[in-house]
Amino acid sequence: MRSPLNGFRQTTQRIEVRKDPLTGRQCRINIERAKRPKQTRTKMAEFDELIDSSKAKCFFCPKNIEKTTPMFTEGLPNRIWVGKACLFPNLFPFGKYHAVGVFSGNHRLGLNQFTPKLLEDCFKACLRYFGLIRAKHPEIRYWHINWNHMPPGAASIIHPHAQIFADSGPTPYLRELIERSKAYHDNNGGNYWSDLARAEKANKSRFIGKTGSVYWLASFAPQGNREVTAIFSDASSISGLKERGLREFCTGLSSVLKGYHAVGVQSFNMATFSGPCNEDLSDFYLLNAKLISRPDPAPFYTSDNGFMEKFHQEAVIETMPEALAGKLRRYF
Ligand SMILES: [Zn+2]
Repeated sequence: MRSPLNGFRQTTQRIEVRKDPLTGRQCRINIERAKRPKQTRTKMAEFDELIDSSKAKCFFCPKNIEKTTPMFTEGLPNRIWVGKACLFPNLFPFGKYHAVGVFSGNHRLGLNQFTPKLLEDCFKACLRYFGLIRAKHPEIRYWHINWNHMPPGAASIIHPHAQIFADSGPTPYLRELIERSKAYHDNNGGNYWSDLARAEKANKSRFIGKTGSVYWLASFAPQGNREVTAIFSDASSISGLKERGLREFCTGLSSVLKGYHAVGVQSFNMATFSGPCNEDLSDFYLLNAKLISRPDPAPFYTSDNGFMEKFHQEAVIETMPEALAGKLRRYF
């Protein structure tokens, strides 16, 4: 094009099309898109006001949590407490076993304030919940720990909380991951996830760090901006996580969030992709988790989820995975 940003001189932009090596899912990366002028207001003062006003009647703050959140049935404890973390049923669930895990009594936490201990308490409560369900309903084999942080990441409540979900079958994407990992094993004889971790560690450019048994990588073909993949090298399911593995994950997650904070990220999504709780798939599949950043919270903001992502299922990315790895590595 002849760009008005360059005196109408001929200008070229580099667009990289990448495919995920396991799923074949495609994305398009153009880092120039990060500079797009957005015709939306971004007054942080208004966002700070929203935080303060939401605190006054927050369901998850310590003064209200016991009065305003649901309680479990089926002989489970009313709510599951570990330290300051509290788990209870989601009041508006999308499945039978859908709980909310409030991290602590803090209504607002910067991404540099999620300590490994704070994360670990909440995820320990998740494991306790899964264990209680497993004892009563062994057919509920697929366990997920997810996290939407701040409204641009689809959180309806500001107070930091995770979402815990268990179901009899995998989500379509998890099924795809497991099936393709099995096909990779059948064709190549290896485990895709340990092969990926080893190759990325040797290649260095997208390798972020390792916390004990957990590898941290910037995804080669991300589905969202600043996508980070965690690979648990010794478990295929959340049920196979020992206390040490959970602690190692929380140490790394806390570091990724510190790195996100340092590059200005305020909103994100996280999901875990766990094999069934009653099978060891570690010959061909390993437990993994992903994080992506979402737009900054503001009264109005431009979403990063448009027709390409919602309908064509091809993410448009404005950050280079290799540059992200370079920025996050120093927090490990
Ligand atoms: Zn609150």
